[in-house]
Amino acid sequence: MTCGPDDTRLPVRVERSHPFMDRLPPPPSPLPRWKIEIAPPDLTPWLEGNCGVPGVMHYEGRRPGPHTVCVSLIHGNEFAGAIVLDRLLRERIRPRAGRLSLVFANPEAMTLFNPADPIRSRFVDEDMNRVWSPALLDDARSSHELDRARLLLPVILTADRLLDLHSMLWPGDPLVLTGISARGRRLAERIRGISLSVADRGHLAGCRLIDHPRFADTGSAAACLLEAGQHWQTDTVERTMQAVLSLIGPCCGLPIRTDQGAPQRHSIVTDVITARSGAFRFTRPFRSGAVVPTGGTIIAFDGDDEIRTPYDRCMLVMPNLRPACGQTAVRFARAVRE
Ligand SMILES: [Zn+2]
Repeated sequence: MTCGPDDTRLPVRVERSHPFMDRLPPPPSPLPRWKIEIAPPDLTPWLEGNCGVPGVMHYEGRRPGPHTVCVSLIHGNEFAGAIVLDRLLRERIRPRAGRLSLVFANPEAMTLFNPADPIRSRFVDEDMNRVWSPALLDDARSSHELDRARLLLPVILTADRLLDLHSMLWPGDPLVLTGISARGRRLAERIRGISLSVADRGHLAGCRLIDHPRFADTGSAAACLLEAGQHWQTDTVERTMQAVLSLIGPCCGLPIRTDQGAPQRHSIVTDVITARSGAFRFTRPFRSGAVVPTGGTIIAFDGDDEIRTPYDRCMLVMPNLRPACGQTAVRFARAVRE
């Protein structure tokens, strides 16, 4: 695969010599009113787990086969995936072949969810999708999320294919993040109903679950991360169910929908823009998946710096319309030509 020549790149960050002499900075994007169509599921039956790891339900088929792991609640306020896994468990699904683990990674964070202030409850102490580097997991430091990650590690280290279920705060097209391994991308192609896959290297701030070395090209397993739609919407739950069934349906004897929709387009992230100031502002409220036609277009200001698209037809992946200093504000991606 190729992502095209790189010789037409323009700088992504331009420091202004006379900041804001000629105009005022744009105001921050207004926070939308979040629609809350779903409620956190009652996970009481699964919290103890059935395999010695709290929050993990594990089943083995009669015939050999791969270990498939579906992970929900890495972020406590993203409970569409937990609703789906809870439904499947209540329907008593079982693998005919191979092993299946359904994981509720951080139910304690979900219990903090408050519909009056829904963007809290992402975690208890720290972002659980930044703690998966082996060095950090081996470190002596303790936090609620690190300790949970250490408890879950035996499941992760035996996974052959893993789907990490997330949703998005800001509006955008659903997508699958694959990491940069070819295996991750092949796994993404099996996910039904999601028409965009994005290969990326993760975040400066820490290692995601799908970036654990087990899922790298040098490892032996595949993982990808589903961003199924906006948090708290029924469509996101249905899309997550379709994605999970496309992965576990064959081993569990469950029907999978064959209406794939549009063929999956592949993109590769070329730049991760991290906010360097507490005043990162987009020029307009871009939605994830938006393609900016012309290279050099200013899409945001970070303090006094201009953030520009580095090439024509640049896709904006999951713009964070209110990033804090040090957080990923947006990723730029190019379409991959086969
Ligand atoms: Zn998430």
